[in-house]
Amino acid sequence: MMLLSFLLLWGLRQSIHSTADRELKGKMDAVTAMMQVSVPKLSLAELEDEFREQSSLGGDLIQVKSSDGGWVFRSPSTQQFAPELVKIASADQPGVHETETKGKRYRVLTQPLEIGGRKYLVQVAANISDFAELQRKFFWLTMLLIPLMIVGASTGGYWLSGRAFKPVTTIIEKARSINATNLSSRLAVSGNKDELHKLSETLNGMLDRIESSFKKVQQFSDDASHELRTPISLIRTTAELALRRERDPETYRTALNEILIESEKTSEMIESLLVLARSDASSQPQLPLLKTDIAAIVRDCCNKVAPFTQSRELSHVVDLPSTPTVILGDAKFLERLLLLILDNAIKYSHPGGQIRTKLERIAGSVTVTVEDTGIGISEEDLPRIFERFYRADKARSRDGAGAGLGLSIAKWIADMHHAELLVASSVGQGSSFTIRFPQISVE
Ligand code: ADP
Repeated sequence: MMLLSFLLLWGLRQSIHSTADRELKGKMDAVTAMMQVSVPKLSLAELEDEFREQSSLGGDLIQVKSSDGGWVFRSPSTQQFAPELVKIASADQPGVHETETKGKRYRVLTQPLEIGGRKYLVQVAANISDFAELQRKFFWLTMLLIPLMIVGASTGGYWLSGRAFKPVTTIIEKARSINATNLSSRLAVSGNKDELHKLSETLNGMLDRIESSFKKVQQFSDDASHELRTPISLIRTTAELALRRERDPETYRTALNEILIESEKTSEMIESLLVLARSDASSQPQLPLLKTDIAAIVRDCCNKVAPFTQSRELSHVVDLPSTPTVILGDAKFLERLLLLILDNAIKYSHPGGQIRTKLERIAGSVTVTVEDTGIGISEEDLPRIFERFYRADKARSRDGAGAGLGLSIAKWIADMHHAELLVASSVGQGSSFTIRFPQISVE
């Protein structure tokens, strides 16, 4: 506002000056033209008459001095009201000046003139007091208006910004009130499709994601503590029972054996939980995938499980190519994945059943399939078997059934390898698990 006021004042001043200067220039032209014609041929008295006529026409503020210092003409007003003009004329300064005398402001144009070898100094002036007054009034008006405008603009601005930010304040307050206990509450979304609408929607989306992760973590820790409680209380009860009174060495051995089995199961479960917790922590695939011969890994795993298949009287048919089949993967994790699947096939098979493991290349991809003729999985269980801690009812009652973490780990490892883990099963007939590595990146 100050800049605008300054510019307006400057503009007003420039406009007054240019108007006054134009008028002065006109006057000066008339006087000099008259002098050019009259000075050579008229006497001083005649010349004075001529000037008088000019000065009355041209606003009465004219004076002419010759180079010898004498006045050629001074209009009455110039003599009477503007002695300052005399000063300027004697100072011999050509150009435009402003001067103030007797409370009036004049703009003065001084111009040297030479006629017939004699030099003159011609001065015409214009009274610009009214304009100066206008300028002064304008200046004070602005000085008065600026603080008023500042106060007005500040108050108005404060009120307006308060109104404009009201929805933001509401969002802030609501967002502040959301914590772990009310994670399901959401921010109100305004009907207008503006930036605030987008902000609320974005924050709500973020809350959705946080809530679902939070629920997963909660569910996971609930399940984990529940699952760990059972074997630990079993260990405790066995030890307590054994210690209650003196017993024979055989009973102690049996008790210790039970404790050992339970502790092994527990430590296995803790290890699985750690793998899953780590998989949750890393959002990006972290495994370094190297050229790996999957056929060799499958062969190794089949050899490793041979004692178990034999002890459960299962026949294991292994159908592998004789040449290496290279994929990009992590050998340690791939082995774990296969062992988990093979372990399930053994656990959930009836004695005398058959397991068939094969490796095939189908349309540029490598698939490993483990089929069994075991108990099978019901249709309602099938979509849930990859969930953590999920065990089908039949599996729960079986000896050696795990904690329901194996397949979720298997799924995670498959994901890390960009592989699909597929299952087909029918109750009483058996199951078939297939790991399909999307494509052979390296041969
Ligand atoms: P668990 O440790 O109980 O085996 P998993 O995550 O490995 O847990 O498997 C989850 C559930 O899927 C098992 O409890 C079982 O009900 C079912 N399951 C997995 N593999 C087989 C299979 N080969 N045959 C029948 N059921 C299976």
